[in-house]
Amino acid sequence: MRTPRVAIIGAGQSGVGMGARLRRAGIDTFRIYEMRAGIGGTWHANAYPGLFCDVPSRSYQYKFAPNPDWSRLFSPGPEIRAYIEQVARDHDLPRNISFDTEVETVTWRDTEWEVRTTTGDTEAFDFVITAAGALVRTRTPAIEGLESFAGRRFHSAEWEQDAELAGKRVAVIGTGSTGMQLTRAIGPIASKFELFQRTPQWVLPLINIPYGPVAKRIMRRFPFANQFAYRFWQRVTEGTFGVAVIKAGWQRRLIAALCRAHLHVIRDPDLRRRMTPDYLPGCKRLVMGGGFYQQFRRSTVSLVDTPIDRIEPRGIVTADGVLHEQDVIVMATGFSTNRYVLPVEFVGLGGTRLTDRWNPQPEAYRTVAVPGFPNVFMLIGPHSPFGNQSLFTISETQADFAMGWIEGWQRGEFDTVAPTEAATEAFNRDLRDALPGTIWTTGCDSWYIGADGLPAMWPWPPDRHAEMLAQPELGHWSMERVNGHEQRQRAEHVEGRS
Ligand code: NAP
Repeated sequence: MRTPRVAIIGAGQSGVGMGARLRRAGIDTFRIYEMRAGIGGTWHANAYPGLFCDVPSRSYQYKFAPNPDWSRLFSPGPEIRAYIEQVARDHDLPRNISFDTEVETVTWRDTEWEVRTTTGDTEAFDFVITAAGALVRTRTPAIEGLESFAGRRFHSAEWEQDAELAGKRVAVIGTGSTGMQLTRAIGPIASKFELFQRTPQWVLPLINIPYGPVAKRIMRRFPFANQFAYRFWQRVTEGTFGVAVIKAGWQRRLIAALCRAHLHVIRDPDLRRRMTPDYLPGCKRLVMGGGFYQQFRRSTVSLVDTPIDRIEPRGIVTADGVLHEQDVIVMATGFSTNRYVLPVEFVGLGGTRLTDRWNPQPEAYRTVAVPGFPNVFMLIGPHSPFGNQSLFTISETQADFAMGWIEGWQRGEFDTVAPTEAATEAFNRDLRDALPGTIWTTGCDSWYIGADGLPAMWPWPPDRHAEMLAQPELGHWSMERVNGHEQRQRAEHVEGRS
């Protein structure tokens, strides 16, 4: 058996899952590059007050590490981060992680990948796994005068933990999932709270029940109960949301009815009208959670839907000339999406650059690999079903698929493997044909939409992703022997023994 050298880019939930997968297969020769100082990826970066996950805890976890201790049906952010850190520790991953280390370039050098970090260090690998997340680079709109604001100002994913909020005048710009969660958390404590809305969002009410000591004991005592709960919540969410986004039917009608009924929590008819979207629920990413609309019953909490004109030292000036004075402005304005592992510069066979290949829009073979980039596998890559499925489920499916190839390499079946152009083109043609039937194309602007005008999403039932990656279709892959590969391996083996 050959020993593969594997680079993983990112120590978030997918990178940790991949590292654990390698460790369980007895492979220790891997390095995880992490640009932040800690583990958790999005759950490390996002540390804003009131952060919750709106996917049920029992299916937002690794299948191989069921957690009996979730405190609620929907977990608070810090609990998810602690869980991912614990799984990393349980698999002894920290010793394989280079923290505060950003990968700059990944270049194919005849027989292997050379990974170069921003500090100039290089290391060679046989496989590269990208696990860099989908919502990473923050997006701050270029509002005139933004820099001149005299108070505290930061993006929701770059939270300044020492910022005082209690008794302060706070503005949140943006009404996505983050803006909603911030409103619930800061609305009750600020002396004045204003939510700046450009586009109203549909909000699906959720009740976040706590799990008591009995539930935790049962889960600890009977691990199969946790596995059963995983399957149960997976079926519930994929059978409703996962289907509603791809086709019309009772699931779509039910979600729409719940969102519309929820609006009646808003007592003031004028405010209700201003907060009612003019597109279908689910076209933009659904905002989910209870207790949001209720915040606007407080005399200190208000919605500002007059467009922002500019920002000046004392606060935000709207198009009607009104100055909204603030102590703190939070940009809950989302992320630059459809970038995946970019801006890492990948240079593949024949000098092909991933940035060029992905212009205007990233595409992959069945979400996991790109022709011309041998032995590179992507977790949460282009068109992954993140609109229809838990990210843990997706990345575990992809990690298992990558692992299958790594094991084939260990057995010496090939030196390099990459999907063919023909298979990749056929997959993306089918994908493009199916996308217009989905909810994301029904007339709204959202971060799902790519530069080609199509949603960068998965247009089929979530199960189909796992089916497509259950076994590689060998005719879709090009496996090669590389001159010099065996000699290098043998030399390293001898060196390692001497
Ligand atoms: P987002 O959904 O992209 O929302 C950004 C918000 O900022 C939108 O309301 C947008 O308005 C607004 N905005 C952008 N530029 C603006 C400008 N110049 N002036 C005024 N408003 C502006 O970002 P997010 O809320 O951070 O959420 C991103 C994604 O993260 C979510 O869709 C979800 O997938 C994930 N998330 C998940 C959870 C969870 O519980 N699982 C929690 C938080 C986030 P427009 O709508 O008009 O563009």
